[in-house]
Parts: sequence; C-alpha cells; structure tokens
Amino acid sequence: MPNISHNLAQIHACIREAAKKYDKNPADIQLLAVSKTQPASALIEAYTAGQRQFGENYAQELEQKATSLANLDITWHFIGPIQSNKTRVIAQYSHWVHSIDRRKIAERLNLQRPLHMPPIQVCIQVNIDNEASKSGVSPSELAELINAINPLPNLKLRGLMAIPEPSNAKYAFEQLQQLALKYNLKTLSMGMSGDMEKAIAAGSTLLRVGTAIFGARKPVHQAQQ
Ligand SMILES: *Cc1c(COP(=O)(O)O)cnc(C)c1O
Repeated sequence: MPNISHNLAQIHACIREAAKKYDKNPADIQLLAVSKTQPASALIEAYTAGQRQFGENYAQELEQKATSLANLDITWHFIGPIQSNKTRVIAQYSHWVHSIDRRKIAERLNLQRPLHMPPIQVCIQVNIDNEASKSGVSPSELAELINAINPLPNLKLRGLMAIPEPSNAKYAFEQLQQLALKYNLKTLSMGMSGDMEKAIAAGSTLLRVGTAIFGARKPVHQAQQ
C-alpha cells in the first residue's frame, strides 16, 4: 500500500527544492493529484493530508467520485481526452477542464454548463510534439481556438496544457511556456510524476501528478471511458 500522505509531503518538498533551484516562487506551483482509476478511499486519504485539487480522465468516473465525495471541498479538474457525447457530464462536474483541443468541444461545454455554476476554468491542450496519434491543437492553430473560446461566457480561458513525449519534455515545456507568454496566459498545466523538475524549470504552475502520489495504476478498462 502506498503511503499517500508521505508521498504528498515528499512531492511538496521536491517542488520547494526545484522552485528554489530555478528561481521560481513555490506559491505559484500548484499540485493536482491525478486520481484516475484510484478508489474514493485513496482520494479521501489525500484529502485528509490536505490535498484539495484532483484530476480525473474519464467522464463517468468523474461523475461517480464528484457525487460520492460531494461533501468534501474538492476542486475537480478534467484532464482526459474529451468525446463530444461526454461534454454534458464534464460541464456539470468540473471546476477546470485542461484538455480542450477543438472549437466544438468548447462550444458544447459552454452550452451545457449549468447556469447556476461559475464559468469553467479552461486550458487548451497543445500538441507540441505534433504526433498524429495525440490529442491537442497544433501551435499554428492555437490563435484560432483562443479566439473561439474567449467570447464564450461560461468558459474562462486560463492557460495551456501539454503531455509531451518523455524524451522531448524539456523542449516541449519551453515551447509551451513561450506560447503562454505570447498569448498572455498565466496557467501552465505541465509536468507529471516523471518530469516534474523539468516542468518547474520551464515555469509550470500546475503539476498533474498521479503515480508519485497514489502508486501504480491498474490497467484501465475501456468501459470506464
Ligand atoms: C495520468 C495522467 C497524469 C498523471 O501521470 P503520472 O505519470 O501518473 O503522474 C497527468 N496528466 C494526464 C493528462 C494524465 O492522463
């Protein structure tokens, strides 16, 4: 059994250390606990240790957890690929959505956000590596998507997100940082268990960390999506 509170304390220590090394303010770097496939009990353990921001990849799993843990003060981040038939659930349960990569998804989330809720805080996922298999908008199409999202009243554009190839992480993080500067976006959702330090060096403000907090995941069954 992983010791979640111990792992969280270690990650916070790593963040402080890397922030110092790269001359960043540790208060600008938030930790998102990626809890996909983990049972609710693991989230409660992290919550008890002070963790408040959680990231989920599958709409159904987000719905289940957000419903069963509704009494906790959790900020839910949706970080997985978005199919258009799942946007209603995502719009209902997410405070943040990191993985917007096309206009249609942004428009559906905007339309389906319940009216009594504040705007969804969103990031655009950018495909820095430009691999055909991966989701994310290409840097050359980014301006167009930003212009499509900005007028939508129920979305608030906060920043950019990327999941680079591990071998290419340093370059990709630096590219994402440049793009965020260019478009004056403050949130950089980048860095996972294996590349936190590189992401902090390039100015990450939101680390998405799963394995280093919760231990290895079991394989995901398709039905969960
Ligand atoms: C699973 C996942 C993570 C966490 O990855 P770890 O290597 O377990 O830290 C981060 N971001 C996204 C988009 C993910 O799907």
